[in-house]
Amino acid sequence: MTRVFISRPLPDSVLAAAHDLFDVTVRPETSPLTADEMRTALRDYDGVLPTLGDMFSADILGGASWRCKILANFGVGYNHIDVTAAQAAGMTVTNTPGAVTDATADTAMTLMLMSARRAGEGERLVRAGTWEGWHPTQLLGMHLGGKTVGIVGMGRIGQAIARRCHFGFGMQVAYHSRSPKVLDFPAIQKASLLDLAGACDVLVIAVPGGNDTHHLINADVLAAMPTHAHLVNIARGNVVEEAALIHALKTGQIGGAGLDVYEFEPAVPDALRALENVVLLPHIGTAALEVREEMGLMSVRNLQAFFAGDTPPNLV
Ligand code: NAP
Repeated sequence: MTRVFISRPLPDSVLAAAHDLFDVTVRPETSPLTADEMRTALRDYDGVLPTLGDMFSADILGGASWRCKILANFGVGYNHIDVTAAQAAGMTVTNTPGAVTDATADTAMTLMLMSARRAGEGERLVRAGTWEGWHPTQLLGMHLGGKTVGIVGMGRIGQAIARRCHFGFGMQVAYHSRSPKVLDFPAIQKASLLDLAGACDVLVIAVPGGNDTHHLINADVLAAMPTHAHLVNIARGNVVEEAALIHALKTGQIGGAGLDVYEFEPAVPDALRALENVVLLPHIGTAALEVREEMGLMSVRNLQAFFAGDTPPNLV
């Protein structure tokens, strides 16, 4: 029977579906795989279902003839897998697009609202027992209605965020994109990332991680943003140069930020945690049971198609 290694505990329904089809080993730990665990998985299993943090680099994937023929990633983002090295080692790579789109867009809206309306600060005030009661000039934030959201990465999640902003909040939508987009809502395309940064009240990052987008949001982009503007990152931590962001938040170069992801995740710098004008979430973009179930079942369907000799539906 086909042997499949699953690198983390997954929802019961996903494991049941996998057990029905394959001889499955589920690693009980919730931490990323070590180098030894990755090599053992590649050596002893026909398929591996890895996820965020399992760093299948060229170093791990190269230099041996592995039994494993497919990495069926749990998640749409696959920047932790060196796809070129995997393909050179004869492996197919798949991911889980679509299943994550709405939940991640909702998390972007959560961060946008929390940052613009100073909800984190307010929550800390109440929890500290120091709230003295309502008054007309307390915790005044930025109202989102009528403001402009700038989308960096107008893909599935970027468009879902833009739709929420346009239809739900009456915001203007602007974006910068490498390729032309056909959109079903009004949106202004900006000629460059700096133009976009300078023209929006909230800049939202929704590009994939990886070498191409490493530090895409750097000191120059942050300097181009208006001083009242907020940055929201639901993409990958190292798309934003974290040290430059801390500087911009500390010096009032931007108004605030909402982050779901961090450059050196799970490490979050003390300097960031000490700031009032930043909302910090622990990478919960897709954290809802039915979303994680759909992601897992998508990974299982990719494995099933691959081992049946068909093209997996979600090839990378
Ligand atoms: P997608 O549909 O592939 O969209 C990504 C978009 O980014 C594409 O439209 C692409 O543009 C654009 N892009 C790529 N490089 C760019 C660059 N250098 N400058 C400008 N635009 C660029 O992917 P998705 O499903 O929306 O997911 C996006 C990312 O979100 C994932 O890769 C993942 O890392 C992250 N994510 C995070 C969470 C979370 O829990 N926080 C959850 C899900 C996903 P073109 O169309 O021009 O190629």
